[in-house]
Amino acid sequence: MKYVVCVPDGCADEPVDELGGRTPLEYARLPVLSSLAARATVGRARTIPAGLPPGSDVGNMAIFGYDPARYHTGRAPIEAAALHLDLTGRIAYRCNLVNVAADGTMVDFAGGHPDNDTAAEVIKALDAELGGEVSFHPGVQYRHIMLAPPTWAEADCHPPHDLTGQPALGPTGPAGARLQELMDRSKAVLSRFELDANQIWLWGQGPGPDMPRFADRFGLQGGLCTEVDLVRGLGVLAGLRITEVEGANAWYDTNYEGMRDAAIDGLRDGTDLWIVHIEASDEAGHAGNVEEKVKALENWDTRVLAGLVDALNGMGPWRMLLLPDHATPLRLKTHTPDPVPYLLFDSTVDGPGGCYTERDTAACTPVVAHELMAALLQR
Ligand SMILES: [Zn+2]
Repeated sequence: MKYVVCVPDGCADEPVDELGGRTPLEYARLPVLSSLAARATVGRARTIPAGLPPGSDVGNMAIFGYDPARYHTGRAPIEAAALHLDLTGRIAYRCNLVNVAADGTMVDFAGGHPDNDTAAEVIKALDAELGGEVSFHPGVQYRHIMLAPPTWAEADCHPPHDLTGQPALGPTGPAGARLQELMDRSKAVLSRFELDANQIWLWGQGPGPDMPRFADRFGLQGGLCTEVDLVRGLGVLAGLRITEVEGANAWYDTNYEGMRDAAIDGLRDGTDLWIVHIEASDEAGHAGNVEEKVKALENWDTRVLAGLVDALNGMGPWRMLLLPDHATPLRLKTHTPDPVPYLLFDSTVDGPGGCYTERDTAACTPVVAHELMAALLQR
C-alpha cells in the first residue's frame, strides 16, 4: 500500500460574491478531485485545537499526525529545526528584521524583505556584538532565529505582523526587559547596513518539541516536499525524508509538476507515504486574489493530482488524504481556526462518496485532524 497526503495550504474558504456565491472549491474546475471525492469518505476536520493560533505550523503538525495541543511548543523551535539548529538546553526565538518608526509604530514586520546575503551579514554582526548568552542564526530574508537559555522563555511577545500600523508593543513578563534591551541595542548594529529594517523583533519562542519520529510513531517511512521553512521544520522534527524541488517558490507560479514528481519518485524509491504541501492557495487567500485562488486549485487538479493518481495506479493499491491546514478566506485575508473539508480515498474501496466542498461537508461533525493520519494508515 502506498499513501499520499495532499495539503493545498489554506484552500478552504467562504462563498464569494465574484464567484456567484460559490467558494473557490465549488467554482474551480476540479475533475480529478471530484472523481476521487465521488468514491472517497468526505468530511470535516478540526486542524486547529482550541486555544492555539491558526498557523500553518499548528495545522500541518495535526495533518502529520501529531496533536498540536501536546507537541506544539511555539513557532520558532520548528523554524530552528528547519535550519538544523540543536535546541538541547536552549530555547528558540524568532528574530525578525523589522522597521519601527521613530514614533514607535510598527511600519514593516518584514523589514523591506532584505536579500539573504545582506541579512546573513546583519545576523553575523548581531551575533558578534550581542551574542554570548544568546546566539543569532541566519534564516531567510527577514526571518531569523535567536537561541537563548531556557529561563528566557518567560515572556509575552507580540507577533510583529499583528502590530502593522500600530504601536510596536514590546515584550512583557520576567524576561521581557532582557529581550527589550537586545531589541534596543540591535538598532545601532542595523544602522550600519543599507536596509529598510532598523531593529530586530523577538517573538514566537519555545523549547524544541519532543516529537517522536514518524517512522517510530506509525511504523513506516514518510517523505515530504514543501516550499516553506515552517513545514520543512516539522518534517525535520518528524524525521521525514525531505526533497527540495527546484522552482518551488511558494508563489502562484511555483513548480507544481516538480512537487508532483518528487512525490512520485519518493514513493517509487520505496518511501511508503509522501506529503505534498503547496502554498499558492494560501498566498492567494492572503492577497484576497479570487482569480489566483481558483487557479491554484485548478493547478492542483491538472498539474499534481492527475499525474499523481495515474502514477499511483501503476504502483498497486494506494490511499490518499487531502485537506488544508486551515482556511484562508479571501474576504478576511488571514487564517481562521474553522474546521476544513477533508477527503480520504482508498483505491481498493468504493467509499460513501461526496463532494469535496465546504457546503457539502458543513453538516458533518468535525473529526480531530491529528487522528486522520492513523485513519489513513488504518493503524
Ligand atoms: Zn497554512
